Amino acid sequence: MEKSVLLFIAAPYMGHLAQSVQLAKLMLEKSNQLSVLFLVMKVPVDPEGTIKVQNIISGCNVERLRFHHLPTPVNTDNWSSNKGLFINQLVEYQKPHVREIASKIKGLSGFILDVPTSTLSDVAEEFRVPSYIFFTSSAASFGLMLHVQSLQDEHNQDTFELLKTSQELILPSFVQPVPITVLPTVITDKLLWSSRMHKLIQYWRKPKGLIMNTFSELEDFALDSFVKDSAYGKTGLPRIYPIGPVLNRSETKIKSHSEIIEWLDNQPPNSVVLVSFGSLGSFDLDQVKEIASGLEQSGHRFLWVLRRPPAEKGGFPREYENLELVLPKGFLDRTAFIGKVIGWVPQLAVLSHSAVGGFVSHCGWNSILESIWCGVPIATWPLAAEQQLNAFHLVKELGIAVEISLDYNEAKEHQELVRAEQIEKGVREVLGSGNDVRKRVKEISEKSRAAVQDGGSSHLCFENLVTTICSGS
Ligand code: UDP
Ligand code: UDP
Repeated sequence: MEKSVLLFIAAPYMGHLAQSVQLAKLMLEKSNQLSVLFLVMKVPVDPEGTIKVQNIISGCNVERLRFHHLPTPVNTDNWSSNKGLFINQLVEYQKPHVREIASKIKGLSGFILDVPTSTLSDVAEEFRVPSYIFFTSSAASFGLMLHVQSLQDEHNQDTFELLKTSQELILPSFVQPVPITVLPTVITDKLLWSSRMHKLIQYWRKPKGLIMNTFSELEDFALDSFVKDSAYGKTGLPRIYPIGPVLNRSETKIKSHSEIIEWLDNQPPNSVVLVSFGSLGSFDLDQVKEIASGLEQSGHRFLWVLRRPPAEKGGFPREYENLELVLPKGFLDRTAFIGKVIGWVPQLAVLSHSAVGGFVSHCGWNSILESIWCGVPIATWPLAAEQQLNAFHLVKELGIAVEISLDYNEAKEHQELVRAEQIEKGVREVLGSGNDVRKRVKEISEKSRAAVQDGGSSHLCFENLVTTICSGS
């Protein structure tokens, strides 16, 4: 039978690439008619990220899945120091290369893109093949973006005036009104909105389908809102496929992997809190000291993933070479039997371990899905992007997380220092056994597993997606 070749292009970030590779694998398992060519971009200013991406690829030995590395731009000195605008430039730079590769593929049947690479659907159009966008955040946040875009484009609403003068927004994808203070800067920052997000969102209305890393039992309200008439403007929406959770199952071949798991093996059930802020989170020294004191004062066991802030604006966090110099004097000795501080963990494996009973998290969507899958409650500590919105969603709408109370400066531009006492309280609460939150997380965890089993909501949706892709219709 003639093979259909899918071109898959995702941003080279942890929260996108590992899940995208997993999605490609699942598609290939489902249909032997398909093959996937995965185009990999390199972010020249992120050497540690590049190594992690390389690990994902080298640990993936799957028939009919090939990787091709796109050329690395030689000089990015004049590119933006904002990560989002930088990736825009990288995607634009790659357009001609993608075009050239696509022209050589026999049996090209479609493009799978993610949010940062959405604009490459223009290339798919040139080749008259369908494109699909894999959305790696919540359906609720997707609804927010679409709604704001339709307010501006179809109702001529001055969205900045609206955001400036309102306390909260009524959004079709949220049950409750959403406080303006939790909206992501890609919406509230005029430059980021007009130079990036506004255009990207217009691209989300064009593909053949939107693949969402969520499941209907978790986000029924948001998903239902997409099928209701007119909630998102006249332009309409492509078919939506909630097929999650698609998890980061990459082999994160890190040196300390077995050491971490062995350490967890020696801890009692539900006794350890994982403290981790995704692939991009980092803190300055004052905050590091408060976290250390908060953990120590809580008296609980901990596994703390700590990295140092980027050396340059717009750069990426790196691992500390010498933790002794960063942590309070004597901290490592005093906590040697109850804690571990490390630069990176195999997160899904850690959350799956029975010793882990709570997760202080930045609320990146992938971390949320992983914690749900493993039934581990979160204490929310959002840092950037749509994480505050996710935290609101988890705590206020779903009731499956406890909140670490955060203070912001008056202009709401940045968080004030989070004090040891606030952290201690969050850790105690999230590890507290028998509370309602833990019970609800366990319930939704079971639902997440049922969703991807034979006959489950995501499973059925995924079969539908693959059948549609294979039919080329
Ligand atoms: N699964 C899936 N998508 C994923 C990972 C897993 O559909 O990204 C399905 C998998 O095919 C199986 C179920 O989820 O039917 C349970 O997976 P697994 O046994 O690996 O879960 P574990 O309990 O080991 O985390
Ligand atoms: N991750 C990991 N080890 C770490 C930190 C992060 O494996 O020490 C993985 C995590 O499991 C998740 C991804 O990196 O799959 C981060 O995605 P998320 O959406 O949570 O946050 P982002 O990094 O995009 O802010």
